[in-house]
Amino acid sequence: MTGRVYKSTGSWYTVKTELGKTYECRIKGKFRIKGIKSTNPIAVGDVVDFELEVDNNQESGIIHHIQDRKNYIVRKSVNLSKQTHVIAANLDMVFLMITINNPPTLTSFIDRFLVTAEAYSVKTVLLFNKVDAYDPDTLDEVRYLAHVYRKIGYECIGVSAKTGKNIDKVKALMRDKVSMFSGHSGVGKSTLVNAIEPNLNLKTKEISSQHMQGQHTTTFAEMFDLSFGAKIIDTPGIKGFGIVDMDKEEVGDYFPEFFALKQDCKFNNCLHINEPKCAVKNALEEGEVEYSRYRSYLQIIEGEEEHYRTDIWDK
Ligand code: GDP
Ligand code: ZN
Repeated sequence: MTGRVYKSTGSWYTVKTELGKTYECRIKGKFRIKGIKSTNPIAVGDVVDFELEVDNNQESGIIHHIQDRKNYIVRKSVNLSKQTHVIAANLDMVFLMITINNPPTLTSFIDRFLVTAEAYSVKTVLLFNKVDAYDPDTLDEVRYLAHVYRKIGYECIGVSAKTGKNIDKVKALMRDKVSMFSGHSGVGKSTLVNAIEPNLNLKTKEISSQHMQGQHTTTFAEMFDLSFGAKIIDTPGIKGFGIVDMDKEEVGDYFPEFFALKQDCKFNNCLHINEPKCAVKNALEEGEVEYSRYRSYLQIIEGEEEHYRTDIWDK
């Protein structure tokens, strides 16, 4: 049988088949996914093959195979610094929720988030929330940022979780997909999910930030089926996901507008800093590349290695 992992307790996995039947499953033997050293072999979102076992009239499953992941997101384990914890696998989409104020979301945070998402091959949609509460100048700022990110290929939607503005658009994107909501604490993630699907109780709010800090290795996620055919992955306290083992030369490849220009740089290993005849710097001078994007790029590339390997979590 084949199913998708909805929940994991570490030793038991709740797996749902396409027909909608749920089984509690365990792993037989040791699983190692090539290329990742993680504290958990199977994550929420994984598609697994299992066999049924009946013991004392109790049915349970034995997982014997994990299907190839389309993508996955991780955080670094605090206690075992070389290991990572896979938060979720096979995500179709992450919604990055942004507010201009209360709380402010900086472009450096947005760009760092997007670089990570690109590196993990996770599609990101930018949601500018609380548009009901902004004055005209702030709304201009939303329009400007939406223009900047649309130009480089990201879908941007101005929404209000409070009034319901454009929630139908978000729901349309979510249909038949697995998605997740990220963003600073206070941007309106719980309010939005509640507007999308009332009566779904998110864990996000139940776990205090302080509690989280001591509990990094046991971060758990859970997948939910929504009434309109969407799946959502709920993770407590998550604001983003860490960049793991990225080379300096690689960072520019995850800025789509830099990547598109790279072939026109004189040097094919151009870091777009001091090299002559750099297409990215030329485009920057002509205003085709946004200065805030370039600044974020420099921050990542010139930061200490530690810096760009840091996980981005709610503090
Ligand atoms: P979370 O930490 O991201 O889950 O944020 P919450 O959903 O808890 O929202 C934080 C605060 O922002 C709450 O007081 C919400 O009522 C408020 N809020 C959320 N969405 C909106 C919105 O679209 N407009 C306005 N004006 N307030 C909102
Ligand atoms: Zn260059």
